[in-house]
Amino acid sequence: MSAEPTALITGVAGQDGIYLARHLLARGYRVIGVTHVAVPASVYLRGVELQVCDIRDSQSFEVLLRRERPDEIYNLAALSSVGQSWTAAESVAEINAMAVLRILDLLVRLERAIGYSPKFFQASTSEIFGIAEQQPQDEDTPQSPRSPYGSSKAFAHNLTANYRDSLGLFACNGILFNHESPIRPTHFVTRKITRAVAEISLGLSERVVLGNLDARRDWGHAADYVKAMAAILQHDAPDDFVIASGRSASIREFMELAFDAVGIAESARYVDFDPAFLRPAEIPQTWGNPKKAETKLGWTPSSTLRDLVTHMVRADTVRIRTGIEECLGYLFAETVDDALAFTSESHAQSCPHCCA
Ligand code: GDP
Repeated sequence: MSAEPTALITGVAGQDGIYLARHLLARGYRVIGVTHVAVPASVYLRGVELQVCDIRDSQSFEVLLRRERPDEIYNLAALSSVGQSWTAAESVAEINAMAVLRILDLLVRLERAIGYSPKFFQASTSEIFGIAEQQPQDEDTPQSPRSPYGSSKAFAHNLTANYRDSLGLFACNGILFNHESPIRPTHFVTRKITRAVAEISLGLSERVVLGNLDARRDWGHAADYVKAMAAILQHDAPDDFVIASGRSASIREFMELAFDAVGIAESARYVDFDPAFLRPAEIPQTWGNPKKAETKLGWTPSSTLRDLVTHMVRADTVRIRTGIEECLGYLFAETVDDALAFTSESHAQSCPHCCA
C-alpha cells in the first residue's frame, strides 16, 4: 500500500459515512466520498473528496474505480430504515442488494482485466437474523430476515461471502447491530427520543409519541463501530464479524436514560403511545455476541449505553440552545460541551472543531 492509502466510501453523507471518513482522515487516508446526488456543503465532510455516482450504475462506478484506484472500498450506501423499507421495497432491493451484486461482479472483472483488487467492506446488519432463536446472535446464527430491508441485506451479505469464498475477493461483512450517534436521523427511535427529551427539558415541548417500548436492541456508538469497519479490512484474512455491544436494552430503558440525563425521573408522564409507530413485523430483540471481533480484531466498544444516550441528549440540547445544527464538536462526547460556548454569530469564526 502507498504511503497515503485511499479509501472510497459509498453513502458518505450518512451517519456511518461521516464517522468513518473522519476516522480514516485522522489516520492519514485520502478519502473519496460517494453520494448518489450532490450534497450541500457540510462541515462533517470537510477534507473528503466528494464524487457523485449512483452505485446502481455500474458503468459509472467502474469509471470511478479505474480513475481513483482506491485501496479500500466501504459500501455504506443503503436505504437504511427498516420501518420505511416497507413502502420502498423495490428501491431497497435495487440499492441494498442488486447494486452490491454489480459491485462484486465489477471487482472480479477488474481483477481479471487489470489485476486491480481493492479490499471491499459490506455494511451488513443484525436485521438478517430476524427473530433469532439463538441469543445472543453470532456469525453462525441462521438468517431469517423479517423486512424488505433485512432481506435485501441478507442477499448482499451472502453474495459478499460467496464472492470471497469462491472467487477470491478480499470481501468482508461487518454484521452491524444498531449503532447511533448525535447525527442519527430523527426517524430512528433513539434520536427521536433524545431530540424530544432535549426539547422537553428546555420547556419547548411537552410530550414524545412512541410505539412499542418493549422491543429490545443491542445499541452501540457509531464512532466505535466505524473503527471496527476499518479494523476488519486490516485483518490478515477477509472474514465476517458481528459488531455489537454485547448488551440488549429496551426502548423504555433507553428513554429512561435519556430523561435521566436531564434530571427528569418520572419519564412516563411525558410519553404517549401511537399505534402508527408499530411495525408490521416487529423484531422483539436483537442481541449480538462480539467475541470474534474482540478476539481476532482486538476491537471493543468504548461507550456504554449510558455514555451514548448522554452524548446524544447533550448534543441535541446544545443544538437547540445555540441554533447551530451542524458542528464537528457534536460528533464526539468529549467536545460537545465546548460546542455550547459558541453562538451562531461567533461560530464561524471561533469554533475550534469546525474551523481549526
Ligand atoms: P431499527 O431497529 O433499525 O428498526 O431502528 P429504529 O430506531 O427505527 O427502531 C427500533 C425499535 O424501536 C423498533 O423495535 C421499533 O418498533 C421501536 N419503536 C418504538 N417507537 C418507535 C418510534 O416512534 N419510531 C421508531 N422508528 N421506532 C420505534
